[in-house]
Amino acid sequence: MSRSFKYVTLKLKSVEVVIIYLYQVVTMIQDTLSNTDNDCSPKESSLKSFFLGPQSENAYWVQNTLVNIFSRWFDWRNRIHPEDGRAISDIDQQSQQFQQCKLKMTELITSLMDRFELEIPKFSPRYIGHMTSEISLPALFGHIITLLHNPNNVTGESSAVGIEFEHEAIEELLKLTGYKGGYGHFTSGGTIANFESLTRARSRMQTWLAMACVLKSKHGVQLDFFKASHMGWAQYHQYIKIYKIKHSELNEWLLFDASPVHAIKLYTHIFGEYKEPVILAPKTKHYSWEKGAKYFGFGKENLWPVELDQNGKLDIHDLEKKIKLASSTNTPILMIVSVCGTTEFGSIDPLDEIHQKLKILQRDNLHIWHHIDAAYGGLFLSLLKTPDEDTNLEHSKFLSEHTCAALRAIPESQSITIDPHKLAYVPYSSGCFLVRDPHEYQIHSENIPYLDFTEEKSRGQYTLEGSRSAAGSVATWLTAKSIGFNCYGYGSIIGRTIESRLLLQTALEDLSKSIKILPDLETNILCFIIARSGEPLSHANSKTLKTYEKFSTLQSNPTFYFSKSIIDKNISTLFFNNLVDTWDLKKDDDHIHLLRLCIMNPFFNSKESKTDYISLLVSDLKKHIQSL
Ligand SMILES: *Cc1c(COP(=O)(O)O)cnc(C)c1O
Repeated sequence: MSRSFKYVTLKLKSVEVVIIYLYQVVTMIQDTLSNTDNDCSPKESSLKSFFLGPQSENAYWVQNTLVNIFSRWFDWRNRIHPEDGRAISDIDQQSQQFQQCKLKMTELITSLMDRFELEIPKFSPRYIGHMTSEISLPALFGHIITLLHNPNNVTGESSAVGIEFEHEAIEELLKLTGYKGGYGHFTSGGTIANFESLTRARSRMQTWLAMACVLKSKHGVQLDFFKASHMGWAQYHQYIKIYKIKHSELNEWLLFDASPVHAIKLYTHIFGEYKEPVILAPKTKHYSWEKGAKYFGFGKENLWPVELDQNGKLDIHDLEKKIKLASSTNTPILMIVSVCGTTEFGSIDPLDEIHQKLKILQRDNLHIWHHIDAAYGGLFLSLLKTPDEDTNLEHSKFLSEHTCAALRAIPESQSITIDPHKLAYVPYSSGCFLVRDPHEYQIHSENIPYLDFTEEKSRGQYTLEGSRSAAGSVATWLTAKSIGFNCYGYGSIIGRTIESRLLLQTALEDLSKSIKILPDLETNILCFIIARSGEPLSHANSKTLKTYEKFSTLQSNPTFYFSKSIIDKNISTLFFNNLVDTWDLKKDDDHIHLLRLCIMNPFFNSKESKTDYISLLVSDLKKHIQSL
């Protein structure tokens, strides 16, 4: 670099410093002025540093941070064997072909950016459709920094630093769930995380059955097939001790690699009978469970639906009935699935009651795997966490007593799915699978000759996926460390969105007799229909669908973005009937169309924006309803 050039850069830098300073002063004055007419606490103001802001309010420092991130990356590369010299020369760069390619790329980038301007503006507080919203700044920075290094977390050989961040991010999520000493990994999303639980529950059951096979074939001890399938580790270890069973003997009977047909033959031979295991899941389950049942060879018919109670949650009495039915027909239960934050309504199953039932069964040596699908709702736990690891809150002003009780029971489950790409405001794709007992996590593993797994933080031998980016882990790590999975960080942001849902709900209830809101909503999802009492359900459905068309991506530029859902009479009879009766509608249709609003945007109820989104939405809806 020439001397004069250096001087110019220095000069530019000092101009930049002055501009930054002036900008900060102006912002401070603005903040002071605007703070006089709102009661935003200092805590809430600090939370505003975690998002870019709907109008790119934090653009200035975000831009600087990005420039800094990239210059650090350039410098780092320069420091790796600088003696190798440059591979791209000035002459190369000035050549016509080089210049043409550069120009072409620049044009393509421009056209790509143009096309992305048609993307749904999910960052806007007006987007209240699906479970996606603004991404947090720490998550964005973490993601970008990781992309630049492109670590593949399959092994420490391809990700020296990335696997450490995954380990630490998992530790943060384990603290959040209360799985002390547990284990887990990041997945591309909730679907794969749910599959991870299915494969482990099967391997656990097969391990217990292998014990029964050894007992029968070597020691002439005949166990009952159903009981053997659920024997539990205490009894398993007791058998090892009593009969001095070696691991090599057990391995002979493990069927992890076998086809289902082979397994059926062998188990029928040993036990005299065989029943395919079933999965019990509530009717509000995510569709990934059907995929899992089909594609992992369990069979969709073995996915036993658990009925919903009148509030649309897993009906504990029906669960008990299904367990009894399985037990009386010697049908092993592979796992019970419950949902924490249903995809449609954001509601939380009675996890505490499920746990109480399972505890009673455990006394009779009947151990059933309980997986909590908290892809959406896992982060609600942050409302009950203090920054001090060992103390949890019993209550949250944003959640009902029974929801808190359900959340408090999470540490008792065997495994859980949490999607940071939902309520942790992390970019796609970032899901997570956690297991309370690390032995149950590591129950099966792959031996891949060309990959080295000696680094203990390598997880590639245990994951369904092969190559895995570290970006989701790092993004989650940086948000956990900066925002915090506790009541002051995420809890405060999410609490705000629950509060927004309540405010909007109250405003809609006051607006018109033509709006019927789904009762007993618990979190930040609001569902309602457009209907008047006494009306036929079919009329309500047609008005609701028309409203969806007006407030959805079907319109080129809607004032707000909603999503929709459906409650089917044949799928959730009790829930359906209860709703139609509560809303006083005539049952001339077999399903209810609902408008579904996921209020995830932390600025939806911002006092500073010129637009009051709640009032605007209410007045837009009012006009629309009048036009129906
Ligand atoms: C979103 C969701 C899933 C699936 O997660 P993906 O990340 O879309 O694969 C599973 N279960 C529940 C309850 C969900 O909300």
